[in-house]
Amino acid sequence: MSLTPNVYDAEPIPDAARAEIDRMLQSGDLFRYTAPQDAPVALLEREFAALMGSRYALAVSSCSAALFLSLKALGLPRDARVLIPAFTFAAVPSSVVHADCIPILCDVAENYRIDMADFEAKLDGVQAVLISHMRGHTSDMDAVMALCDARGLPVIEDAAHSLGTTWSGRNIGTIGRVGCFSFQSYKLVNAGEGGILITDDPDLVARAVIMSGAYEHNWSKHSPTQDDALTTAFGTWQNRLPLYNLRMNNLSAAIIRPQLAEIPRRVTDGRANHDHVAARLSDCQWLHVPAKLPQEERAPDSIQFNLVGLTDDETRAFATAAAARGVKVQVFGMSADNARAFWNWRFLPQAPGDLAGTRAMLMRACDTRLPARLTRPELDGIADALIAAAHDVMGEERRAYGT
Ligand SMILES: *Cc1c(COP(=O)(O)O)cnc(C)c1O
Repeated sequence: MSLTPNVYDAEPIPDAARAEIDRMLQSGDLFRYTAPQDAPVALLEREFAALMGSRYALAVSSCSAALFLSLKALGLPRDARVLIPAFTFAAVPSSVVHADCIPILCDVAENYRIDMADFEAKLDGVQAVLISHMRGHTSDMDAVMALCDARGLPVIEDAAHSLGTTWSGRNIGTIGRVGCFSFQSYKLVNAGEGGILITDDPDLVARAVIMSGAYEHNWSKHSPTQDDALTTAFGTWQNRLPLYNLRMNNLSAAIIRPQLAEIPRRVTDGRANHDHVAARLSDCQWLHVPAKLPQEERAPDSIQFNLVGLTDDETRAFATAAAARGVKVQVFGMSADNARAFWNWRFLPQAPGDLAGTRAMLMRACDTRLPARLTRPELDGIADALIAAAHDVMGEERRAYGT
């Protein structure tokens, strides 16, 4: 029997969201600044900051909006160069362009992580660094922070897909100056759309709050407890920044808040699912799952693996064979107009350069969703199909087995 689970459906939204949404539909109280205090969006911000161990959180309309506001809140001048990894989603360089800055791409290795030699070589002349933890893979954050701190460069973490990931026990998103997360449906917490940024920096968050659309004195609803540094910063920036109106609405917050309690289970199950499938794939000589870095504890909801020893034609044939066996595999660099292949970002103001490592990786790296809700038999069905697809294309394994 072939088991081919639907890997796109999300989990149901917890029942607790219903009563709160019903209350809001009755009252019509959907705007975060209508209530004098404790609107659902404000409560989400407090809960999320506490969960991550950050001083401040600002909920907005998407992770892209959070990245844009972070760049703006750093006060980068027009045409500032911002270093980003060449392996990420098109929304990331787009947020840099949106902030009137120039994305500079650094190379990424076959393990999906930043090539630190190329990173270091490209640091001169950049004014900020945006580390995108693509598909939740964490680059060497100790090396990144040491290099950036030595030059006084601010680091933004794009943790859209890294909620629940830790680095030496620290939450991803709390290592740089500011961390940004997504609540889009394919992420760990699903509100359809939404994002949030976290930081310990009162001046940065005050600027981001105002630019997110806290017009007049609505910023006062962001500091329920006495916080002199924050109040001073709001006073400093009052009327001095544009209002981009990227706010989150109360309905989204009501959908997100009851899911926060689900995060630990989703992380544990997602990691176990990933590691089970990774171990199975690693038994096949043509499939390689790169190891995580030792400091990293992952929270995956998908698996990436590289095809080893396959030509371009065999790579395409593998994806077709996997699809025929019921598992959709995307080879990042092979599917038409893929938004994660940097050569398709033709809106970049500056040509991205060679990036040979990233290019080679994208041509053999496969992407398969693996949501936390999948069962062991479903996971084995996926692993069986991927291994069988490799055999369909490459024949029997050449590896010698013991007696
Ligand atoms: C999803 C994603 C984004 C964009 O998030 P939105 O909330 O859809 O704007 C950015 N970066 C990465 C790594 C992502 O996975």
